[in-house]
Amino acid sequence: MKIAIIGGGITGLTTGLALLRKGMDFTIYERAPALNEVGAGIWLQPNAIQVLDRLSIGSLLREQGALLNRAEITNSQLKAYSDSSSIFENESHSNNILSIHRSRLQKTLYNAIPEEHINLGFELVSFQKVEENYEMNFSNGDRITADLIIGADGIHSAVRDQVFPGTLLRYSGQTCWRGISSIILPGPYKHLGIESWGKNLRFGFAPISNTEVYWFAVAVANKGLKDEPGTIKSTLLQNYNSFNPLIRQIIQNTPEEKIIRNDISDLKRLEKWCSGNIILAGDAAHATTPNMGQGACQGIEDAYYLAGFLEECEDISSSLRAFEVFRRPKVDYVVNNSWRFGKMAHHTVGRGVMKLIMKLTPDAVIRKQMSSLYALKEID
Ligand SMILES: Cc1cc2nc3c(=O)[nH]c(=O)nc-3n(C[C@H](O)[C@H](O)[C@H](O)COP(=O)(O)OP(=O)(O)OC[C@H]3O[C@@H](n4cnc5c(N)ncnc54)[C@H](O)[C@@H]3O)c2cc1C
Repeated sequence: MKIAIIGGGITGLTTGLALLRKGMDFTIYERAPALNEVGAGIWLQPNAIQVLDRLSIGSLLREQGALLNRAEITNSQLKAYSDSSSIFENESHSNNILSIHRSRLQKTLYNAIPEEHINLGFELVSFQKVEENYEMNFSNGDRITADLIIGADGIHSAVRDQVFPGTLLRYSGQTCWRGISSIILPGPYKHLGIESWGKNLRFGFAPISNTEVYWFAVAVANKGLKDEPGTIKSTLLQNYNSFNPLIRQIIQNTPEEKIIRNDISDLKRLEKWCSGNIILAGDAAHATTPNMGQGACQGIEDAYYLAGFLEECEDISSSLRAFEVFRRPKVDYVVNNSWRFGKMAHHTVGRGVMKLIMKLTPDAVIRKQMSSLYALKEID
């Protein structure tokens, strides 16, 4: 079986690695002419880390990032709304959120796959069925055939546009700046992920090494607004003026030109992820808002399970359908809760309700929710 993976982002590369471990034949086609080095940090939660361990690159990644033993929601002065330490101490997956630079994650995945399996500078434009195969047309003029196409080409997926035209993105009403700051965090923050809430503003941060901190700043905004060049840092410093001084110092120590801004959208639920021998994975299938820090983690889970279903495969299209049925409940849970969380965090009443829920929810309930999010089910 000749498998084409469209997109060499986190989902596409992890899918390639998972297929490689199963000894299957695949090629990744990525439109960028070189590996994308930009991007800020990312939090990989225990569900993703377990997959990366099973694919034998977990240890290599841990050496390049920072391990967080818990994530907390705090007020603007960094005081946690609830004491989560006992939950995380007793959680079987504790000590296992990996906070890492995106380019280090991408590079490690890329280096784990032999060169002959990756074609850079290949942008898929369209494809058509020719007898039992698919013929793919690339913008460089190449035409290549495959038995199966995996669309791992992100939220604006060209594969999805052709198979399921007219799918909709939902703008969350929020925009997000991200950066990497050169700063040594004080002791209590060395193994913590923080999301600090003020009125209509959020600021999250965590170390990605001893001297670097990944941060994100979320605000309510109209869609498509751009920053005047050279004004981002001063605007952020002004916006976060009433927050803890550590937050302002983190912003201050970030090179202005490295700050990235993205509007936050997700994908309206697709009726189907597969059609014939074509399947969507990662953001192409189910882009989510980043509020639960699970978008890439779900793409990584997709990669692992897709390889598992294809290994057992007698008939490609029924394996793809089985994969979709298997993955839907968890993905729906993440997308829906992440959307709700983001809406409540920027709504005066919603914020109050969330704080109350955080204070009153018994530890055992939170542990149960975390365990089901982090657990990897076995394929029957
Ligand atoms: C602000 C923010 C913070 C986030 N934080 C986290 C976090 O902490 N933890 C987490 O798990 N997730 C997080 N996410 C989500 C995460 O970034 C995404 O879910 C993840 O990057 C999706 O990976 P992907 O490979 O599916 O898609 P992408 O990263 O979009 O990769 C798609 C790839 O396909 C290529 N491509 C596109 N079109 C074509 C084409 N026609 N032909 C060939 N190649 C093509 C692109 O160049 C790209 O390399 C965050 C997202 C945002 C916006």
